[in-house]
Amino acid sequence: MAGLYIHVPFCKKKCPYCNFYSVVSRSLRKNYLTTLVHEATHFAPVWSNHEFETLYLGGGTPSLLSDEELCSLFENLKALFRFSKNSEITLEANPEDINSNTLLLWKSMGINRLSIGLQALDNESLSFLERQHSSADAFEKLKLARNAGFSNISVDLIYGIPGLSRKTWLQTLDTLFQFRPEHISAYALTLEENTIYHVKVKRQLLATPPDKLAIAHFHILRHKARIHGYKFYEVSNLCLPGYHSKHNFSYWQGVPYLGLGPSAHSFDGRKRWWNPSSMGEWQNLVFKGDFPDNEILNSTQQFNDYLVTRLRTRKGMIFEDLSRIFLKNDIDLIIHTANQLPKGLLALTSKGIRIPVRNFLLSDGIIRKFILEEP
Ligand code: SF4
Repeated sequence: MAGLYIHVPFCKKKCPYCNFYSVVSRSLRKNYLTTLVHEATHFAPVWSNHEFETLYLGGGTPSLLSDEELCSLFENLKALFRFSKNSEITLEANPEDINSNTLLLWKSMGINRLSIGLQALDNESLSFLERQHSSADAFEKLKLARNAGFSNISVDLIYGIPGLSRKTWLQTLDTLFQFRPEHISAYALTLEENTIYHVKVKRQLLATPPDKLAIAHFHILRHKARIHGYKFYEVSNLCLPGYHSKHNFSYWQGVPYLGLGPSAHSFDGRKRWWNPSSMGEWQNLVFKGDFPDNEILNSTQQFNDYLVTRLRTRKGMIFEDLSRIFLKNDIDLIIHTANQLPKGLLALTSKGIRIPVRNFLLSDGIIRKFILEEP
C-alpha cells in the first residue's frame, strides 16, 4: 500500500497568500513533463513492490495541463507504477479550468476525485484573495462537475478573511452544504513566509488576519458541519461518512508515499527525502541522477513524526499502536505531558489521547508541548 503524489508547479497567477511552490511561466511545461517522466522512470523499479492505492495530482494547478499533457503523463505513470483496482485518483482543479470537455476527459482518464480550489463563495473575499473566478462561476462549475458524474468532490475553503462577516460566512456554508460536496478542506487564512501577503503586512499595507475572526468562523463551520452530517477527521479536513481523502489520510497514518516534481516530499516507511523548490535545481538533479539524500529517521524524529501526524487527526494516538512502536518510557512521557496541560485541551482516555475537534485550532501549540528536542 502506498500513495503517489505529483507536484504540478504551474499557476496562471500567484495568489498573494499561497506559499506552495509554483511558477507562472508556461514555457517550462514541456521540460517539466520530460523531467517528470525521467524521475518516475528512476523510482519505478525501487517502488515496484508497492501497489499504489492513491494518485494525487496537486500543485500548483494541475488542471492547467492540456489534454495531451495530462494524457501523456497518465500513460507514463500507468506504465511505470502498479495501481490498485480501486485506486483513488485526485486532480486539483481551479474553477476556471473546468468545462464540459475537460470534465469528460478527466473522467475518461480514470480521475475519480476532484479537489476544486473554491476558497470562498462571496465576491469580496474572492477579490481579497485575488482569485480569478467569481462566486457565481465557481458554483456553476461545481454543478457542472456533479452533472458530469463526479461523485467525489472536495472543495477548498479559506476562513478568517478580513472583511468576511459572520453573515456572509453563514451564507457561504449554507450554499455549500446544500450542494453537499463529499469533502471540504478548510484553512484559516495565515500569514505564510515568502508570500505577497506577508510582504504587504510587513510593509503595513495590509493588516494581519485577526485570530478572533478565524476562531469565530471555525466554530460556525464546526457547528454547521455537524448539523449537515459532516465530520472533521483532521484539523483542516471534514467529510461526509466514508469520503475522507485516502491520499492525505495515508500521510497521517505513516503509509509510504512517493512524491515526484519540484518540492515534492517522499517517505518510504523509514526514510524521507524531498526535492528542491526550484524547477531548475530539480531538473538538474534528475538529469544528473543526483537525487536528494535520504534522511533516515532517528528514534526522536520517529517519535515526533508520529505525534505530529496522529494528533492532527480526530482519532489521535491510540495506546495500543504506540506500544507496538515505542518503549514504555516514551508512552509514560506522553501521558505525563498530557497530564500537565490545562484540563479540557485534550481528551485522555484509557484507549488513547486526542485533541477534541473544538480545540483543533489550538493543535499546533498543543502538539509543540509533546515534541522532543533532537539530540
Ligand atoms: S492557491 Fe493555488 S492557484 Fe493560487 S498560487 Fe497557490 S497553488 Fe496557485
